[in-house]
Amino acid sequence: MTKEEEIPDWVGAQEFYDKYDPKEILGRGVSSVVRRCVNKRSAQDFAVKIIDVTPSDKMSPQESEEIREATAKEIDILKKVCGQENIIQLKDCYETKAFFFLVFDLMRKGELFDYLTEKVTLSEKETRKIMRSLLEVIQFLHSQNIVHRDLKPENILLDDNMNIKLTDFGFSVQIAPGQKLHEVCGTPGYLAPEIIECSMDPHHQGYGTAVDLWSAGVIMYTLLAGSPPFWHRKQMLMLRMILAGNYQFGSPEWDDRSDTVKDLISRLLLVNPEQRYTASDALNHPFFQQYVVAEVRHFSPYRKFKVICMTVLATMRIYCNYRRVKPVTKEVLQRDPYAVKPVRKLIDACAFKIYGHWVKKGQTQNRAALFENTPKAILLSIAAEADDATLHAW
Ligand code: ADP
Ligand code: MG
Repeated sequence: MTKEEEIPDWVGAQEFYDKYDPKEILGRGVSSVVRRCVNKRSAQDFAVKIIDVTPSDKMSPQESEEIREATAKEIDILKKVCGQENIIQLKDCYETKAFFFLVFDLMRKGELFDYLTEKVTLSEKETRKIMRSLLEVIQFLHSQNIVHRDLKPENILLDDNMNIKLTDFGFSVQIAPGQKLHEVCGTPGYLAPEIIECSMDPHHQGYGTAVDLWSAGVIMYTLLAGSPPFWHRKQMLMLRMILAGNYQFGSPEWDDRSDTVKDLISRLLLVNPEQRYTASDALNHPFFQQYVVAEVRHFSPYRKFKVICMTVLATMRIYCNYRRVKPVTKEVLQRDPYAVKPVRKLIDACAFKIYGHWVKKGQTQNRAALFENTPKAILLSIAAEADDATLHAW
């Protein structure tokens, strides 16, 4: 049993153990373990994030103090954002000399990351539902001048009704309006270009809330394609791709996606943060305006006409898609099975079950990339030399 698997001892943590029974591990980060726990009185399940702040041979007293301060900030932000329906609710928290215990509602469906792993790619409809909620959360956070700084599918949990709950505010910070940040933190594949620039240029003007919209763009792309927009097995080259905003809507994943969805992603993945969409801009994008006519309550001839037009357009689109579909013959399957969407999904899903990662699709594109972001807390300092990005665990 490793130190992390051991249940923290009683000393100083009695209050927590009096009320809850800790159970199996649900997830873990660099210095935290999340377990299911049961409220002894109500028998209700919760999740407890246990953060170890004991100095050890792996953690200096200074690091331990930094983690303690960072956790206190995380709790402070969690209390400030309490009540937003798509943010995880902090129910209880306990602080001892050695540990923090943060008790949350239990999300039985786990991470969006695991859901995507299982489904390989999501439909535009499902992506719309998830992204609308995520952008509403970002809009809410930014209205309070809170920057999350670690948006990624691992930090988005799903409740019993498949609604998202944003979690892990470990890197979040509340800034003064217009204040710029310089600290380099986050997860490499989701880092906005301006954060990477900050690590290379000590005189950089800094970054702000727009970094969350970049990460939202990366998430949206990943949900639809099943692979991230920026990926290279050499991390330095991946960071260069991010700096240049170098990504593609490549074939075959993007062939049958709408121009509307590609347009929205391209407005989120804009290298210049000034030009990048805000959460409100994104929510007003036509991608989210579709199908709202169904919510019309009062009769209006104009709206009725609009519904008729949209129905005709939708019928034409379905018909055109039907015409475009090529029959799946033996020849097509032999020539390029990966180009046929259902077969592609089947291959990927089987490969994942067997190998624990998706099918490698060439030198620069690798679905397994999604699994290389597991270290949650990373401070980046990019060395001047070309191929060696130095990443320090925080
Ligand atoms: P860290 O800061 O170490 O990344 P997180 O808060 O992101 O910690 O939690 C780590 C993992 O634990 C999550 O990615 C998720 O898998 C699991 N987890 C966290 N909170 C819950 C919860 N409320 N319900 C279910 N699983 C959770
Ligand atoms: Mg996390």
